[in-house]
Amino acid sequence: MIALPTASGRRWWWTAQMIGLALTGVLLVELLAAPQPTLHVLWDMVIPLLPAVFLVNPLVWRSVCPLATINEYTGNQAGRGAVPPRVLRVAWVIGIALLFAMVPARRFLFNEDGAALAITISLVALLALLAGLTFAGRAGFCNAICPVLPVEKLYGQAPLLPLSGARCAFCTVCTPAGCIDLAADKTMAQTVGPLRKHSGWTATGLGVFAAALPGFIIGYFTTSNQGLDSAGAVYAWVLGLAVVSYVVVALIARTVNARAQIAMPVLGAASLGLYYWHASPSLAASYALAPGGAWVLRAVMGATLAWWLWRTLRRTSWRNATTPADS
Ligand code: SF4
Repeated sequence: MIALPTASGRRWWWTAQMIGLALTGVLLVELLAAPQPTLHVLWDMVIPLLPAVFLVNPLVWRSVCPLATINEYTGNQAGRGAVPPRVLRVAWVIGIALLFAMVPARRFLFNEDGAALAITISLVALLALLAGLTFAGRAGFCNAICPVLPVEKLYGQAPLLPLSGARCAFCTVCTPAGCIDLAADKTMAQTVGPLRKHSGWTATGLGVFAAALPGFIIGYFTTSNQGLDSAGAVYAWVLGLAVVSYVVVALIARTVNARAQIAMPVLGAASLGLYYWHASPSLAASYALAPGGAWVLRAVMGATLAWWLWRTLRRTSWRNATTPADS
């Protein structure tokens, strides 16, 4: 049984979910009516806060995400059953591919084209709805092809703030493995499987994602917003650095036979450190922080990441967790 918030706590979460849906509607309208200020608020002020939220606890976002609300509603009303384990593992890879396809597209499309972003958000919402009509609960989207899921898994290993999920009153096992809401500390083990015990994790989907992420982040922040005709060059640069990152990490991991329970948190902390190193100046400017604000943000995030990494490496419960993949 999942530990649920109290009745009044659930009412608060439900209210937050409805506000999330309403804000999404407002966002779609404003992306069309006033694209420039809306894109600025979204990309420069809201989205850069999300990785820090995942560090605190990915369940905060998972409990209010409007796409999760759509997926949950249709999944509970019409979803036909759990996702088969094989389909789930393919879906996880699709989610990672979607993330690697959509983030570079910010440079030549989504950062400056409100209509394109509104259409894409609407299409992803439709995907969440259709996934709910196909699979029970949130098995078809949130726990499967959601492009944010690999990030949630990487940072949900040892949340800084213990929380219980607000969505499932009890577990119907809609998702056969890796549900963050059910057991965040076992998610990584169940996703990577037995290969986590040696350097073989680098050949798993989540392992490839974690190893490629530092280069992917550097690649994104070393490009600038350009026209549609730069799409090929942007993908070549960002994904090229992601491949370099993966190769370097995989070689090191195989040389020292690094286990996933050590390597994954280190890669997660390094990636988020790189992210906030690059994002802090724009974040400080957007929130009109005093001069030197970017360095304060970098220092705060650096200290928080060091704390998170220390706590995560100290925890070993997921190392020995029994997973379906082990059997
Ligand atoms: S596996 Fe259980 S806890 Fe996770 S989403 Fe499905 S029903 Fe909820």
